[in-house]
Amino acid sequence: MSNTPKTRVAIIGAGPSGFFMAEELLRHDNSLVVDIFERLHKPYGLLRYGVAPDHPHTRRIIKLMEHTAARPGFNLRLGVEIGRDVTIDELRANYSAVFVATGAEVVRSLDIPGEDLPCVYSARAFAAWANGHPDHLNDQVDFDTETAVIIGNGNVSLDIVRILSRDPAALEEFEFSPAAKETLAHSRVRNIHVIGRRGPAQAAFEEKELLELGELPNVEFRVDPIVMMLSETDERELAAPDADRARGIVETLRTFASRSKGEAARTVVSFDFLRRPLAIKGTTRPEEITLELCRLEGDAGEQRALPTGALQRLPCGVVFVSIGQRGKPIPGLPFDDVEGVIPTKDHRVLMDGVPLPDVYAVGWLKRGAHGLIGNNRKDAMMTAQAYFANRQQKHTVS
Ligand SMILES: Cc1cc2nc3c(=O)[nH]c(=O)nc-3n(C[C@H](O)[C@H](O)[C@H](O)COP(=O)(O)OP(=O)(O)OC[C@H]3O[C@@H](n4cnc5c(N)ncnc54)[C@H](O)[C@@H]3O)c2cc1C
Repeated sequence: MSNTPKTRVAIIGAGPSGFFMAEELLRHDNSLVVDIFERLHKPYGLLRYGVAPDHPHTRRIIKLMEHTAARPGFNLRLGVEIGRDVTIDELRANYSAVFVATGAEVVRSLDIPGEDLPCVYSARAFAAWANGHPDHLNDQVDFDTETAVIIGNGNVSLDIVRILSRDPAALEEFEFSPAAKETLAHSRVRNIHVIGRRGPAQAAFEEKELLELGELPNVEFRVDPIVMMLSETDERELAAPDADRARGIVETLRTFASRSKGEAARTVVSFDFLRRPLAIKGTTRPEEITLELCRLEGDAGEQRALPTGALQRLPCGVVFVSIGQRGKPIPGLPFDDVEGVIPTKDHRVLMDGVPLPDVYAVGWLKRGAHGLIGNNRKDAMMTAQAYFANRQQKHTVS
């Protein structure tokens, strides 16, 4: 038996990125000891507390993580917040390398009047509440209104549309928190507006998610007429070889637009493009949202939404803000406040432009809050490669 002391590394954050990182490290070097520190008392990050409860197939990725957790050398330290309970310096002094995988926990806000009214929710907080996240157990979510507005054209907006459009009886089979099941069962929401600043060709939806929505019974779609008459620049954008996703979205929305209207739709979902929110008005909850119509300007692939001055007032009683997230700085580590990420080069954390010895980053904290769970796996593979290459180089030099 070898008496060589084991190399110990630490990972901060037990979300998908932290787990994929542990898997890559242990797969390549089974003599490593990997300690993952997680501030919550349960692991898996947004895979547990963000993924919509009516998407159990996505949760199956947890099986992969359980496989990692069973590897010799793997240790999960729950309920430890790095930067509060343990400092970065303490961690660096006790581990030969540190991997930061704390995700993007700060939601982006609209910065408009009325955003702090009751019944204006961030989409992330809604997802956390629906999943029984410990920080959101006491949230008061209220669907005692006919019209909901969702700001943002990403998949998380579609999650909300789907959840609000389902017949409450159909929610029973999924693992919603008890509070969410109870509240959704009494929802009066029948009209849902999904608002995007840019057009259908720029929406960040996945076609698969839109198609799933299209399969829900008793849902009628009203799609902005713009989807049928895109500009020449949009058409050029869609003709690009890498525009498969955008083409799929536009085609699916066109199919929705041409569907015959059902006699007795339970919910009407409207996709309203080229609008930006200016203010939410109301006293005890939203009563209307003011939207400004926009137009697109710029070359294909770089079009920006510019305001036109024309206003629309949309009555509503609940608003969801789903416009993305940014990372949260960790005391003792650098942070790029403009991009909302930790600064890195070749997966190594940069302090004043210079790599901090043996500190790496992986996942949403490094890349920003974009992409699917699987993207973090590829990222972890590349980060592990960088770590092993640097370790090898150090051994060769010494
Ligand atoms: C609402 C929502 C729904 C989504 N749904 C899907 C989906 O259906 N399918 C899909 O493919 N992708 C989905 N995504 C994207 C997916 O969740 C992300 O790609 C992925 O979770 C990013 O992984 P991460 O590990 O970088 O961050 P996270 O999942 O956020 O994990 C970070 C972990 O670090 C912990 N942590 C933070 N700070 C500290 C600290 N100081 N000390 C210790 N621990 C800390 C957090 O508690 C958390 O557990 C969704 C995202 C959101 C926001």
